[in-house]
Amino acid sequence: MVSTDLQTGKQVAIALGSNLGDSRAILEAAIDQLSQDPQIKVQAQSHWYQTAAIGPPQPDYLNGCVSLLTTDLPEPLLEKLLAIEAQFGRVRRERWGPRTLDLDILLYEQVVIQTPTLTVPHPYLHERAFVLAPLAEICPGWMHPLQQQTIAELTKAIDYTGVRQLSD
Ligand code: ATP
Ligand code: MG
Ligand code: MG
Repeated sequence: MVSTDLQTGKQVAIALGSNLGDSRAILEAAIDQLSQDPQIKVQAQSHWYQTAAIGPPQPDYLNGCVSLLTTDLPEPLLEKLLAIEAQFGRVRRERWGPRTLDLDILLYEQVVIQTPTLTVPHPYLHERAFVLAPLAEICPGWMHPLQQQTIAELTKAIDYTGVRQLSD
């Protein structure tokens, strides 16, 4: 038996993004994949947002966030996310180039990590409208451990041009 008591799991926020292929289906399949993991319980899911891309010229993104309870430590969780990205055909070419699936760890409780492979909180979380808009829907009161402001407070300083919430 898997020794998982998800009630004592850690709370984590994940960002999802896609702008290649059937983005909606890919993002929903990725959430499905997460929810089937015995170490993970998906707690809440934001709306999807259509957002103008940053980086090189490319199609609009579909972005959203989920919150999880998990008994995984941060590094193994990142490995899982990278494996799911690979499963959906992600190929890394240029930085910030188009991709079928991007799964980023935004927040892990109040943990702060800075290693060559993992930075938590996600380094751009507090300045990205396409992250803060969905995250504020599901975790407005979560304190950013470095900015010392809640997600709801962080959303106030952001320009939401190019970020559109989809209705369903
Ligand atoms: P950005 O950081 O601007 O969102 P990205 O998501 O496009 O960039 P990727 O190509 O998906 O970047 O990831 C590159 C590497 O970033 C990953 O292999 C991973 O080791 C590292 N990384 C560091 N911190 C995180 C994090 N919090 N979540 C996901 N990946 C991270
Ligand atoms: Mg990213
Ligand atoms: Mg990423």
